[in-house]
Amino acid sequence: MSTGTLTIDLGAMAANWSALDAMSTAETGAVVKADAYGTGIGRAARRLAQSGARKFFVAVAEEGADIRQALGPEPEIYVLSGHMSGDTDTIADLALIPLLSSIDQMLRHFEALPGTPFGIQLDTGMNRLGMEAGEWSAVRSLVVPQGPKLIMSHLACADEPEHEMNARQLAAFHEMSDGIDAPRSLAATGGILLGREYHFDVTRPGIGLYGGLPFFDAAPAVSLHLPVIQTRDVLAGESVGYGNTWIAARDSRIATVSSGYADGILRALGPKTQLFANGTPVPIAGRISMDSICVDVTDAREMPGALEVIGPHQSVDTLAGNAGTIGYEILTSLGARYARRYVG
Ligand SMILES: *Cc1c(COP(=O)(O)O)cnc(C)c1O
Repeated sequence: MSTGTLTIDLGAMAANWSALDAMSTAETGAVVKADAYGTGIGRAARRLAQSGARKFFVAVAEEGADIRQALGPEPEIYVLSGHMSGDTDTIADLALIPLLSSIDQMLRHFEALPGTPFGIQLDTGMNRLGMEAGEWSAVRSLVVPQGPKLIMSHLACADEPEHEMNARQLAAFHEMSDGIDAPRSLAATGGILLGREYHFDVTRPGIGLYGGLPFFDAAPAVSLHLPVIQTRDVLAGESVGYGNTWIAARDSRIATVSSGYADGILRALGPKTQLFANGTPVPIAGRISMDSICVDVTDAREMPGALEVIGPHQSVDTLAGNAGTIGYEILTSLGARYARRYVG
């Protein structure tokens, strides 16, 4: 087999859910959008449900269908993009709960599916999704008697605990939702770590479940090993890869592994990233191609059949830092070609 192997530790994911759950007295949900951050929505959702998650959050209605199929009728499935035109049948057939973010969405939902569950998204300053204070005060008295299942908002700067935006959004959320008899939710992973004022009734962790920052104490849930397809010796002065950007400074040994930017090993990683050969760091040599990467393994004492790119020696967040991005982007970019192996 020449594809890389993505190992997903469901036990670590379950442990992360339980650890985040223990940090608050709120009900802990699970955000499984984008194929559970690249880990596989069906397997992840089933394991998180076993751990006790009863509220799942997805970005779009189509993702809700996958979870409903994996988990059966009981869990609540919330759709963060709300009720878009064209979603009505999916929402109705699969009993999804749209988080309505505008007056348009609200009217669409009440007209198309009167009496069916919904939640409300409020904008407390991020200016991404949700009703603003003015809109909300215009419709609040109409919406509240319909019994929203959840009133939620989202923090823009929760990964920076000292940021003044957090307190500002918290105050805005109180102002817009105090006194309403419905469960409230403000915190994703970062918000859980901010402390109990941010917890309200339901939390919505995503990245922390999958082992990423800002949940510093998370158990790593993903590792990735890339098989060596070929090794060769090159002489000092010879070049490797597109554009001849890497020139051997000494006689070297080059291993070519299967994976590339089409598999989420971002091209921007090339200049800074090393892989690991049984724990020995081995730097990427030259440009990352679409399906293959050349690695300078001259210093490896032994050559394993596969090199580690994410695992005990290199976290998702370290890798992300090498490309100037965040763990979320690395995880959700992991391509469909890997063999996914579930452990734990
Ligand atoms: C993605 C998302 C989450 C999960 O955020 P993490 O930072 O991954 O924990 C929660 N709520 C909303 C609205 C989101 O878009």
